[in-house]
Amino acid sequence: MPETAVEEAKQRVIEAGIRLMETGLIARTWGNVSHRVEGGRFVITPSGRDYRSLTPDDIVTVQISDCSYSGPTKPSSEKGVHAEVYKRFPNAHFVIHTHQEYASVISACNVDAVPIEEGMLAGRVLCGAYALPSTRKLQRNVAKALTRTSNKAIIMKNHGAVCYGASDTEAFEAALELDQACRQYIDDTYKSLTGEQEADAAALSRFALGLGYSSPAPVSRMLYHSRRTKDGFLLFNDSGSELLVRNGELNAALPEEASVYQQIYRKHKQINHIHWSGIPEVALFSQTGQPLKPLLDDFAQLIGTSARNTALSPSEVSAALKSSSAVLIRGMGALCCGVNSDEALAVRMVLEKNSKAHIGAKLLGQVKPIHYLESLLMRFVYLKKYSKQAAVTS
Ligand SMILES: [Zn+2]
Repeated sequence: MPETAVEEAKQRVIEAGIRLMETGLIARTWGNVSHRVEGGRFVITPSGRDYRSLTPDDIVTVQISDCSYSGPTKPSSEKGVHAEVYKRFPNAHFVIHTHQEYASVISACNVDAVPIEEGMLAGRVLCGAYALPSTRKLQRNVAKALTRTSNKAIIMKNHGAVCYGASDTEAFEAALELDQACRQYIDDTYKSLTGEQEADAAALSRFALGLGYSSPAPVSRMLYHSRRTKDGFLLFNDSGSELLVRNGELNAALPEEASVYQQIYRKHKQINHIHWSGIPEVALFSQTGQPLKPLLDDFAQLIGTSARNTALSPSEVSAALKSSSAVLIRGMGALCCGVNSDEALAVRMVLEKNSKAHIGAKLLGQVKPIHYLESLLMRFVYLKKYSKQAAVTS
């Protein structure tokens, strides 16, 4: 394939960044895209920028050999991972690093590789060893895994995946096939352990969590989402119902969560949006009464070292949110909070993925959260780096 001119490559990288968000392969700026260009270089998305606002000037040109770059814009902090792929595979022209759902679930399980029967990834997709994000050690671990495979995807332990191709189309195909295959692997494990024909999400979760088929169903009522208003807050749900509550005007006709939300907005000035998650994996995990620990880097960063599991009580929920941006509501689901709607939705996406990772890891034998001190460090760095940005764009 002829080497692509820099300007054309930058444009393709911008389009791919938007496509990554639209396909749900990444949340916020977690994930990055690059394209090989002439002169032993690649162009890559910048660090920590919203993909919807990028122009060609924001895309950074980086040397493959030593990751050096010039200009004021910082390239993605995972540029080293991309460089390793270009060094190792001359036919790699497009690389994407994702935090895609099911590859991430597998990344938290006690497995070294995922067997894939057919398609462009047929063979085995290997899992590279864990290291903190954006470090030289992570780059070396990815490089090591790449020497053991010629597959167009590898999984990064407790983090995500890296996929490549001769073109953007091929790299996307690899990412999507990888997620399907990882999901299939979980479902097939469940079917072979139970003899079931279908892998229903709720049944699989109950089985993995040891809840038993006869345990009570989680409360089926979906709680309202909410956002802060000038003099109170709004409750809204996915079917379009809205209830406006003014400060101090709670009444018995309002749903139970209204008093909880009022307390959250009173005590936590940085929370302006609360999104409810009641998917089976979250609702059933909440039944265990355990806190949810980070199995994936993005959970540690965005949510914290633990999401507590409490009753739907104003004081308990508000206390749980002091050190975390999400809280599990026992037997029901979870509240996911953010400074704006984008952040609350990203918290929800990451919490749901981490719940699925816990269930997948349990099904495959062992749940091993990220080391507490590493989680704490990631949370600290994240709060310093991103919370200011989010506040500016809210
Ligand atoms: Zn990443």
